[in-house]
Amino acid sequence: MSTRYLKEVPLGEVLKPAQVLADMANRSKKAAIEELVDLLWKQKLISNKSEAVTRVLEREELASTALGHGVAIPHARLEVGDTPAIAIGRHPAGIDFGAPDGKDVNLIVMVLWQPTQAGLFNRLFAGLVSKLADAHFRNRLMEESGADGIARALSDVKIDMLAGRSTKCDADMLIALQLLETKRRAKGNGLSQQVDLARAELPGSMLSRFDRLMDYYGEALVEAPEGVCRGCNMQLSSSFASEMLSNPDTVYICERCGRFLIHHIG
Ligand SMILES: [Zn+2]
Repeated sequence: MSTRYLKEVPLGEVLKPAQVLADMANRSKKAAIEELVDLLWKQKLISNKSEAVTRVLEREELASTALGHGVAIPHARLEVGDTPAIAIGRHPAGIDFGAPDGKDVNLIVMVLWQPTQAGLFNRLFAGLVSKLADAHFRNRLMEESGADGIARALSDVKIDMLAGRSTKCDADMLIALQLLETKRRAKGNGLSQQVDLARAELPGSMLSRFDRLMDYYGEALVEAPEGVCRGCNMQLSSSFASEMLSNPDTVYICERCGRFLIHHIG
């Protein structure tokens, strides 16, 4: 049975010093993006430079990815293989990214990831974004002496990634757990033995998301039988929907509401 689950991965596993530019000096956002894309291309992490630049710029046009406090996270979904392609640029003088606080951007974290790796950017990279919100951490990145130091400082930051898995604990266990939790919450108690059994079969990162979703929505896993999330009614992209259709046992994540998605609950 093909299954995917969310796995916490330290950024160090996908970020090498060669993917970091410590002293950028471009004059424009576009030039900075081109330079970071070029870095990924030289590392053979992407095969089509112009497509990558176009996608990232299209996303920027939709809304600036500057977070404020001198940080921007330009990103796009692109064929990059199983692991996201990440490049970091430090721009000591600062560059205009159209930030909400009007401040120039000194730290640029570019993330390109596979279209079939479903998931809202903010959810998959929440660890990275919250780390960059910390002023002490940002200062540390600004003060590190070079690419090696910046990569090292970021190496422990956790990101969520979808990973393949071939054991029996999978979508079925998530479905069972949701059924049990729903019953248990309705009654206010009981079933704790079955709940514990189901939880023991699921990876921790999946469980913590499950609990957050149950608390927030009262449901964690919904169907998307015709390419529409039954939780929030969002129409999934056609590539996402066809990926789901060909992997009916795989658990995905809705890009809009963050619920776990499965093609249909049997
Ligand atoms: Zn949804």
